Amino acid sequence: MRLSRRDFLKIAGAAGITSVLPLDLIQKAMAGNGDPRVIWLQGQSCSGCSVSLLNSVKTTTIDDILLNKINLGYHSTLIAAAGDLAIKGALGPHPNLTELAAFENQWLMEGPDLKFDLDKDGRVNLIDFNALCKQGYILVVEGSIPAEDAACPVKFCDIGGHLSMEEAFSILSQKADRIIALGTCACYGGIPQAVPNPTGAKGVSDKLIELGYSKPLINIPGCPAHPDWFVLTLLKVLAGQTVTLDSKGRPADLFGDSSSQRVHAKCLFHPSRWPGSAPPQAATLGDYGCLESLGCKGKNTWSNCPVLKWNSGGPGQNGVNWCVEARSPCCGCVEPDFPDGKTPFITGS
Ligand code: SF4
Ligand code: SF4
Repeated sequence: MRLSRRDFLKIAGAAGITSVLPLDLIQKAMAGNGDPRVIWLQGQSCSGCSVSLLNSVKTTTIDDILLNKINLGYHSTLIAAAGDLAIKGALGPHPNLTELAAFENQWLMEGPDLKFDLDKDGRVNLIDFNALCKQGYILVVEGSIPAEDAACPVKFCDIGGHLSMEEAFSILSQKADRIIALGTCACYGGIPQAVPNPTGAKGVSDKLIELGYSKPLINIPGCPAHPDWFVLTLLKVLAGQTVTLDSKGRPADLFGDSSSQRVHAKCLFHPSRWPGSAPPQAATLGDYGCLESLGCKGKNTWSNCPVLKWNSGGPGQNGVNWCVEARSPCCGCVEPDFPDGKTPFITGS
C-alpha cells in the first residue's frame, strides 16, 4: 500500500514518530515529487503572520499547502523536529526526491549532455552532487532582523542557540532563489523598528542592501498579513507567473499605487457610495460611520482589505469583516511608515 503524504503525517503524528525519526527521512516521506523547498525564518515577530496563514480558507488551506504544494524545510513554529535537527533542516542540503532519483540514475556516467553533469566536465560525480545540494529555495522571512552589535553581549533573536537571526538570514538569503518578506515587520521593520528601535531592527530589503546582496524580493506586509495575500502570491510564484510589484515592493494587484487602490476608495463610507447625502460620521469608537475624525488612515493606505475582508467562512468566499466595518479605524498597517508614521492610531475624544 502506498501512503499519501497526508496519511503519513496523520500516522506519524498519532504514533509520535516525528520526534524520533531523522528529519531528513520525515521530509523525504512528506515531500511531493518536485515540491519546491521553502525555508521560513521567524525573526522579531509575534508569530501573528504564521497564525494568520493557518487560517487560510478562501483560496486553499494550510494543510494543502504543506502537504501538496511545498516542501517546508524549516519553520520554527510548525516544524516537527527540534533543536539541532531542525536547524539541519534549514541549513542542510535537500535536493527533492525526483532529483535524487534521477541523479542516482546518472551517477558516475560519462558523456555529453548529461542532465546532472552540473559542472559540465563530462561526468556525473560527487562534485555534481554537491552542486545539486546547493539548489535554491524560497526563503520566507517573518519578523524584522535585529542588528549584530559586537559591543553588545546579547544576541537578539537566537535561532538554535548558536545562530543569530542576522547570521541565519545572511547565510540563507545568499542561496535563496527568491525571498518573500511576510508581514510589515519583515518588509519594512514594523513595530520592532519603531522609535527608539533598541535592537537596530531592519526589514529584509534594508538588510539586503546592508549586506550587499541582490535577490528577487516580494513584500507582503500587514500586521498581520492577510492569509490570502500570501497564498495567492505563493501560488503565482509556484506557477512560474510574474508577480508585478508596486513602488513599495508589494504585489500590485493586492496593494498598488493608484488612488483607486486606497483603502479609503473602497470603503463603504467613501462619499461616492452615499449619493445625495454625506456619509455618516462616527463620533466615538463603536459608532457606525466614517472614522476619519477618530484617526482612520484609509486615505494614506493602499490595500484591498475592504473588498477581500478577513476571516473567510469557506472556499471561494471573501471574509466576513474588516477594521472599519468592525468600527475601528484603519491604522495603515501595510505601509512602510507603520507604526511611527501612522500614530496616533486613534484621535478625537
Ligand atoms: S472610515 Fe476611513 S477609509 Fe472609510 S471613508 Fe472614512 S476615512 Fe475613508
Ligand atoms: S484595514 Fe488598514 S489596519 Fe486594517 S488590516 Fe487593512 S491595512 Fe491594516
